[in-house]
Amino acid sequence: MHDMTDRYAVTGNPVAHSKSPQIHAEFARQTGQDMVYERLLAPLDAFDATVEQFRTAAGKGLNVTVPFKEAAFRYAHRRTPRAEAAGAVNTLKFENGEILGDNTDGAGLVRDLTANLKQALAGKRILLMGAGGAARGVIAPLLAQQPAALVLANRTLAKARQLAELFGGTLTASSYEALAGQRFDLVINATAASLSGELPPLPPGLYADGALAYDMMYGRGHTPFLRAALADGAARVADGLGMLVEQAAESFALWRGVRPDSAPVLAELRRLVEAG
Ligand code: NDP
Repeated sequence: MHDMTDRYAVTGNPVAHSKSPQIHAEFARQTGQDMVYERLLAPLDAFDATVEQFRTAAGKGLNVTVPFKEAAFRYAHRRTPRAEAAGAVNTLKFENGEILGDNTDGAGLVRDLTANLKQALAGKRILLMGAGGAARGVIAPLLAQQPAALVLANRTLAKARQLAELFGGTLTASSYEALAGQRFDLVINATAASLSGELPPLPPGLYADGALAYDMMYGRGHTPFLRAALADGAARVADGLGMLVEQAAESFALWRGVRPDSAPVLAELRRLVEAG
């Protein structure tokens, strides 16, 4: 008999370490949804063929991770406005022969900041470091919260300037050196510096009273950036595990039409990460 359980997966390369299957299995259990969620390793040169095969085998949707978010953007027939703004797709939905591309990373970050961390964004001064895919994906959702300023700092200044031109509004580009003397209520690390054990070259003394330092990276204990932020006067720190769970919740809601309760899932994932 044909198995009618709806199929989902996370695709990437590599994908073995993704926590998404755990997260979505828990969301499905919690909301009583009949679905399975797997890992789908796509060869670097065969993203489209891998996805097409999954889709024609009754796949209903995919999460897309490194390095295929731009490929997924091109693969989609139709894209949400937030995916267009991000220039990348992390969520695909297959319905009635149509391929919808969405991007839930920015919404995931904003939800983690506002709902989980109770961080106000309206009227606040925000510093975003990095100008890669992760940074670009969160710019429009952060601007929509109406901060007083959103400053984008990047090692390669030209890339930050390009994004500032693209988004306009209150987004301004800056070098790291030119930040000296400014103050921020929220500093977000969206660089890949931590992957090579480095820190973005932030001048000291940038944290305003009560400021939150947020690292999109996550892991056991504080990341090197969060340790440096505490030493430099940040009042609070948080890593990107909450963003990971919240972007998953947003994808789940798009696919299934129900919003899971992310808090217990985040708490359990935190326990597992800290246990190593
Ligand atoms: P990219 O490779 O697209 O971008 C890398 C950015 O980091 C560039 O702006 C680059 O600057 C900067 N950078 C790299 N090394 C350094 C350094 N030593 N000092 C200063 N800047 C540096 O990566 P992504 O945007 O895809 O990802 C960035 C991070 O965000 C990753 O760590 C990723 O794991 C994390 N992430 C977390 C998510 C979550 O759910 N928690 C979701 C998505 C991403 P330059 O332009 O000068 O090269």
